[in-house]
Amino acid sequence: MTAPGAGRLRAAALSDVGRARERNEDSLFVGAAVFAVADGLGGHRAGEVASALSLEPIAALAAAPPDDSFRDLTAAVQRANREVYERARGNADLSGMGTTLTALAVRGGVARIAHVGDSRCYLIRAGEIRRLTEDHTVVARRVREGSLSPEEAATHPHRSLLLRALGSEPSVLVDQADLDLLPGDRLLLCSDGLTGPVSDEEILRLAGADPDLDAACRGLVALANARGGPDNVTVVLIEHGSDDPPSPAPAARRPRSRPGRPRATRTLTWCLVILSTAIGAWVVVRAVAGRNYFVGVDGGRVAIFRGLPDSPLRGLARVEERTPIRVNDVAAYYRPRLAEGLRARTLLEARRIVENIRGALGPAPAASGSPGPALPTGPPGGGP
Ligand code: MN
Repeated sequence: MTAPGAGRLRAAALSDVGRARERNEDSLFVGAAVFAVADGLGGHRAGEVASALSLEPIAALAAAPPDDSFRDLTAAVQRANREVYERARGNADLSGMGTTLTALAVRGGVARIAHVGDSRCYLIRAGEIRRLTEDHTVVARRVREGSLSPEEAATHPHRSLLLRALGSEPSVLVDQADLDLLPGDRLLLCSDGLTGPVSDEEILRLAGADPDLDAACRGLVALANARGGPDNVTVVLIEHGSDDPPSPAPAARRPRSRPGRPRATRTLTWCLVILSTAIGAWVVVRAVAGRNYFVGVDGGRVAIFRGLPDSPLRGLARVEERTPIRVNDVAAYYRPRLAEGLRARTLLEARRIVENIRGALGPAPAASGSPGPALPTGPPGGGP
């Protein structure tokens, strides 16, 4: 059935805020044959915005025919750069934001990697681990030049200082590499929150052999956190399997708190998986609470929706909050973006986007007719 060399892909992913950070600024994407990790940089929430935004062209790519997504991977990273750059320029709160992006597309037996920054892609093959990406950091360059030892680099206080990232220039140099895959190969995409505290040998031990990819991901994140979890940690583990169909739910392996689900549930799960896959880029996983808000248009006015703005799922989104802002008054920059839906991970972030839109209104409308609860007028209590 399957073409030789075109083994099936299995993937698992996990992202965690770690032990030292308040928010998770990493984002990840898992599609059928396209995968990515992004590690956002920037004050306030800008890093989260940058990493999430950079994955939108990747998600769009994953919805394209496989040949196209493979061919256009690097172009999609360029597009992601442009998006982040323009959003940062168009919004004072987001200026200076950026993100790493390490993306992977698989077609037939070939993996293509497109990479900017210090997230990494590893190949695990035949019990050995090999890094496929170069860190675009100042310390990595100094190691290459010989002015710093790898040991010094590993603990250098400025080891995260990037030479290259998405969002700082209108175009960016993207590293691209192709790799012929062998059955059983595993590829790991990860942010520096893993590779800071966890060594390559430990990654190999945890992610190299465990048949349960989810458990492997949990193991990697747990070790980073056991070492203090200094940064957000994100892992996407992909296995290029043999051509054998996967055995359905291996029995009695590693009994957990969820012993074998009833068959009906499993069938339902499979139906959902098939349905979701049919929908296309079916997972945009965000680490923390899930990116389940967006700012869009309802009845000609800006509104906050709960749900996802992507076309197959948009019908399920519902209005969470209305605003009095008329779309026709909104700055031209925002109009097409509102039509698409501006994503937010939290209601608070969505409200902030609304504030940005409000701040960018064309000619200020007369301050009248603003609905909402009337504020009490006059000083409370009053004088004698
Ligand atoms: Mn990081």
